[in-house]
Amino acid sequence: QILSRANPNPSSPLSLARALSSDSAPIRATLFPGDGIGPEIAESVKQVFKGAEVPIEWEEHYVGDQIDPRTQSFLTWESLESVRRNGVGLKGPMATPIGKGHRSLNLTLRKELNLYANVRPCYSLSGYKTRYDDVNLITIRENTEGEYSGLEHQVVRGVVESLKIITRQASLRVAEYAFHYAKTHGRERVSAIHKANIMQKTDGLFLKCCREVAEKYPEITYKEVVIDNCCMMLVKNPALFDVLVMPNLYGDIISDLCAGLIGGLGLTPSCNIGEGGIALAEAVHGSAPDIAGKNLANPTALLLSAVTMLRHLNLHDKADRIQNAILNTIAEGKYRTADLGGSSTTTDFTRAICDHL
Ligand code: NAD
Repeated sequence: QILSRANPNPSSPLSLARALSSDSAPIRATLFPGDGIGPEIAESVKQVFKGAEVPIEWEEHYVGDQIDPRTQSFLTWESLESVRRNGVGLKGPMATPIGKGHRSLNLTLRKELNLYANVRPCYSLSGYKTRYDDVNLITIRENTEGEYSGLEHQVVRGVVESLKIITRQASLRVAEYAFHYAKTHGRERVSAIHKANIMQKTDGLFLKCCREVAEKYPEITYKEVVIDNCCMMLVKNPALFDVLVMPNLYGDIISDLCAGLIGGLGLTPSCNIGEGGIALAEAVHGSAPDIAGKNLANPTALLLSAVTMLRHLNLHDKADRIQNAILNTIAEGKYRTADLGGSSTTTDFTRAICDHL
């Protein structure tokens, strides 16, 4: 999995550049603290990185207060350039006001940086009991099109239309990423999740592309599962799945379902992979407005996302150190945030992780 030593992108220009550069030079990475609980959990990442002496220099970027015409959103062009230049970044959650008529910040990032695959590992944490203790799933979500194309309009008064776009190019690209990921991370099965019985053209094309790629990987078992059945199977027995690949909206939903299997959204990381080796890590969860500013948020999901970023940079020793400190703190049970049934604040929990480094 992305949280283990296998490098998801071993030939990335970034890894090569790092190998060629002096080891002592700090690496620049972009940080978007984001909205809601974002700044609190981003602070936690900064503290833990400092404690673990990670050689990262953050380039912090905030969401602007005016629409930048070059991005058509509140994201500034400079912040996108920062990710392009650094090749790696960490992003806090960004709130999307409903019905305000401007482009979603997350959509802008994914489209502008061509972040085509969103990898979402989800595994049971030892020492934190849920109904299952054997969850070990990787959801790979197509990240650039599908229902998230941003093409919506009113046809006539009272009737709106939203376009779902599926292309052969994007479907092949994400399917290839999923199978390659499975092969290089010791995974045995890839399941394509779909609703092609109803969405015959769109999901039909997605499946066709997955089948085409599956033929190139005879060592990986390939299955196709209808999304509704997939939900039922996941809740009943998550061990039935290994790597799951799916169009955008299904990935959004299924990964939250998976988070629920292991203890909630406070725990699940992700990493957006783009063309040319860009990696922008982010938690699966949103800005959690209900607990924002209260020092209650669980920073684990963003911290584990930051760990995926370190692995992308081949900084495995630092990644292992931080990952173990987080998991040991949770397993020990003395310091846990409220979402995991504890009473620790974000800052207390962060301090405990630093003490476990
Ligand atoms: P949410 O994920 O923010 O919150 C859902 C529930 O989970 C809330 O009860 C919240 O308190 C809890 N939760 C989430 N993260 C937590 C954490 N780290 N620690 C403890 N509890 C946590 O989902 P939402 O309320 O539907 O969305 C809020 C906003 O976030 C919306 O504007 C949405 O568009 C945006 N959002 C952004 C992203 C992203 O930036 N990638 C992802 C999802 C939602």
